[in-house]
Amino acid sequence: MEPQSRVYVAGHRGLVGSALVRRLEAAGHRSILKRTHAELELGDAAAVRRFFETEKPEYVFLAAAKVGGILANNTYPAQFIAENLAIQTNVIHEAYRAGVKRLLFLGSSCIYPRDCPQPIKEEYLLTGPLEATNRPYAIAKIAGIEMCWSYNRQYGTRYLSVMPTNLYGPGDNYDLQTSHVLPALIRKMHEAKERGEREVVVWGTGTPRREFLYSDDMADACVMLMNLPDERFDFILAQYQPPLINVGCGEDVTIRELAETVAKVVGFQGKLVFDTTKPDGTMRKLLDAGRLQELGWKQRVSLHAGIVSAYSAFVSDQYAELD
Ligand code: GDP
Repeated sequence: MEPQSRVYVAGHRGLVGSALVRRLEAAGHRSILKRTHAELELGDAAAVRRFFETEKPEYVFLAAAKVGGILANNTYPAQFIAENLAIQTNVIHEAYRAGVKRLLFLGSSCIYPRDCPQPIKEEYLLTGPLEATNRPYAIAKIAGIEMCWSYNRQYGTRYLSVMPTNLYGPGDNYDLQTSHVLPALIRKMHEAKERGEREVVVWGTGTPRREFLYSDDMADACVMLMNLPDERFDFILAQYQPPLINVGCGEDVTIRELAETVAKVVGFQGKLVFDTTKPDGTMRKLLDAGRLQELGWKQRVSLHAGIVSAYSAFVSDQYAELD
């Protein structure tokens, strides 16, 4: 990408999309295309076609999706499959019609079978049953990976799928009904501290393990991939079938350890109570990020430092809302 390249970040207000925009702006990009949901409904094929025909993006980061935590996935399964299939079908197809140079399709580690060997390699895709709590989302994303690969084979496009581990960072979703675990714990512990409460409820048994990556690190990996020289990018597309790269840091923690770290950062000194009526979800999903590491990428923000930054962004957003 050149500084003047027309780069479309689909989902620029989301956790990854906003990190991508920060990263691209810092690198001097001057033509970042952004549309809010109100300005462009990505589920509307005709609107997406008009957008691509008029704006002619050269590079696309497809970070727009219907996303949510374990409860949201369980509550809105129809929307998770239907909206994600529509968004990705429209964007991937119109990107092809418009002759986009490269596209990165973003998903998540829940595409892999529930009982995979760990750490999870890309080739384990479609080798076993999925975790039930987010199967509709996962199947939509798997369809997107297959679609990128098929378009590459039939139309010669350059589409690469990128699957991050659990992400967190500034601008995360802090709604306790729909959020992922890390923002939920930050909010619960902050509010418990403010109100002088002695207990915080953590869902599940606390024993599942999760790997977490700061959103700026994810953005960094995506921009590095998008900027690979042509021969390298094409080599990846040809070598990996489907063309898929995991993004993770290689270390995971139990939900209990995570809760203890968040409590320390937030300064909550009360007790953790585990609500075992809530689902644990998959017991472990640690990604093998070997393909990415081979390209020279490294995590920059440790879990502790990332939680400190995310917590400070959360607190300043709260004050901004009060103003
Ligand atoms: P998952 O990684 O797709 O399973 O999604 P989540 O981030 O929502 O949940 C990860 C794990 O954290 C699950 O075992 C949850 O039960 C557990 N967890 C503990 N407390 C919470 C909470 O307050 N909110 C959420 N979303 N998950 C929690």
